[in-house]
Amino acid sequence: MSDTPVTALLAALANASATVVDLTQPLSERTPVIQLPPPFENTPQLTRRELSHYDDRGPMWAWSVLEIGEHTGTHFDAPIHWVSGRDGEDVASVPPSKLVGPAVVIDKSAEVANDPGYLLTVDDLLAWEAEHGRVPDGAWLLFRSGWESRAQDSETFLNAGPEGPVTPGPDAALALWLASERSIAGFGVETVGTDAGAAGGFEPPFPAHHFLLGAGVYGLTQLANLGELPPTGALLVVAPLKLVDGTGSPTRVLAIVPA
Ligand code: MN
Repeated sequence: MSDTPVTALLAALANASATVVDLTQPLSERTPVIQLPPPFENTPQLTRRELSHYDDRGPMWAWSVLEIGEHTGTHFDAPIHWVSGRDGEDVASVPPSKLVGPAVVIDKSAEVANDPGYLLTVDDLLAWEAEHGRVPDGAWLLFRSGWESRAQDSETFLNAGPEGPVTPGPDAALALWLASERSIAGFGVETVGTDAGAAGGFEPPFPAHHFLLGAGVYGLTQLANLGELPPTGALLVVAPLKLVDGTGSPTRVLAIVPA
């Protein structure tokens, strides 16, 4: 077998000097989904209808039909999800080369533990870059907030208070900066959406959706295990359904991480 970058990677996986980390939350009927206030339409949680279970309906096989929102569980946001990206790509049009790339992680889990509405800022990113170097072109920027510890419980995960949901996310200036000053492929979070819980009141509303999807930068939500990734040096693989006209898709997200 000739030596290629791929054989080197396969050898690293075989001898455990690199490992595969699953960044995906388990998907079930209990997986939390976003809850919008009236008058907006909401997405259902996952439901399953059994077609057969090794019985008269199919004696040798088990299978089911799913009803699932495009934006359910660990999922991918395509540009056409947002009005600012309506002329952009659907999920099926996303080039596969953009679904594999460097992962960089900014960890504000300590700050979020003290302030669940913590807003990530341009200064946070500039401080990160001073330590780790410029966010690479084509990177997936992943915001570690520690929110994954709430991921199996809708009430604490959505964290709705009297003023609306209180969850972390980028402020409007950072969303604009990421969309215009860096060339990232995508922005990923542990929360139910790429915007902060309070972002409906920002100017513009939901700036991460507005600026990033408007610039063709993808979103990833409800990520897990970001604490197993180094700040730089991991390889991300994102695998949404190749859904024609899809605005988003539940997705498996894997990272290849040096040991
Ligand atoms: Mn979404």
